[in-house]
Amino acid sequence: MTEKTLGLYLHIPFCLSKCPYCDFYSGTDMTNADRYVDALLLHMADYAGAAAEYDVDTVYIGGGTPTSLPIGRLLELIDGVFANFSVRRDAEITVEANPATVSTSELRRLRHAGVNRLSMGLQSADDAELSLLGRIHTFSDFTDSFRAARRAGFQNLNVDLMYGIPGQTPGSFRRSIEQVLALDPEHISLYGLKIEDGTPFAARRDSLPLPDEDSECAMYFSAIETLSEAGYPQYEISNFAKPGHKCLHNLRYWNCEEYLGFGPGAHSYFGGRRFAFRRNLEDYIANMERPGSIADMLSENYEIPPSERLGEYVMLRLRLNEGIDTDVFAIRFGVSFEKLFGKYLRLYEQHGFMEKVGRSWRFTPKGMFVSNTILSAMLDFDSDMLRRTADGTDC
Ligand code: SF4
Repeated sequence: MTEKTLGLYLHIPFCLSKCPYCDFYSGTDMTNADRYVDALLLHMADYAGAAAEYDVDTVYIGGGTPTSLPIGRLLELIDGVFANFSVRRDAEITVEANPATVSTSELRRLRHAGVNRLSMGLQSADDAELSLLGRIHTFSDFTDSFRAARRAGFQNLNVDLMYGIPGQTPGSFRRSIEQVLALDPEHISLYGLKIEDGTPFAARRDSLPLPDEDSECAMYFSAIETLSEAGYPQYEISNFAKPGHKCLHNLRYWNCEEYLGFGPGAHSYFGGRRFAFRRNLEDYIANMERPGSIADMLSENYEIPPSERLGEYVMLRLRLNEGIDTDVFAIRFGVSFEKLFGKYLRLYEQHGFMEKVGRSWRFTPKGMFVSNTILSAMLDFDSDMLRRTADGTDC
């Protein structure tokens, strides 16, 4: 076992149908699915040497809808992970699985191949809301898939839920949460619906019966309370888990630890560099089939300057309930967190958005709800100061 650890992300850019709110890189044309799986296998083999010194402790196959691939091909990808990387025996291996796209026998095969965590996209337990979201499954399809996953031996299941859905009320949202809790998953992710530019929802934004901001706020706060009382304390802005079931792969992102991403649109943080591949499936396949041209498909590739490292750490760590430990920050960056951000910390503390617990600063639930606004104020406003500080010319 080496000391350096790594997370892997494999992007599967296919879905059975495209949800009108979604801006993830995915499409419904599966014509090139076989060539794409071959391309991913080639890509992983290409990186095996560079990652030889690392132990892989998390693998996340997401999308898109990974379970839209024929099961045999999905299993080949999992075998490819084991063949090319040193995967720890206790590694967390997650596959995203949409309801109504998997059978019990396919789930058994995934479990047998080493997958030990499933993340299931439900969004709502209300069929009318699911239909408005353009989802292809009902709540009953979801419960069938959830129970099938349990029968297949999965003991670590995540359920994705959403608030802010057109037509949703605090009452219907509460019922969704209660119905999910009745199934007893290990982990729940809760996202607010965002109307992303370029999506069909954005084109008809004005006619969507979206809940107002006060209702959204009420849903978020009530969820934090209900889930915490039910044994799922919040550990990140959008994530809640039973003890011992936090998502280790996502924690890598929030803790600024290394990961490699494969596929169009996938991002990596590896060897002090950040890089990402263009969101273009055909390009990705063509470049993989032409050895030696990986650099041609990068949309970004740069060494992370010290100022950006500090800003990223603040932005990512404050997503977590643990927040920022001032001693750890000082050791990591050689500067005091409170000296750097003191005026913001005091202001947001006075208004109930932040609090200090022991040595750590963190958002309160009220602060979590508006964390993007607070973080952009803290980090944008002081970008010059951050750069001087991290370059060693200030503080
Ligand atoms: S299934 Fe998921 S990835 Fe696919 S379109 Fe819907 S939300 Fe997007």
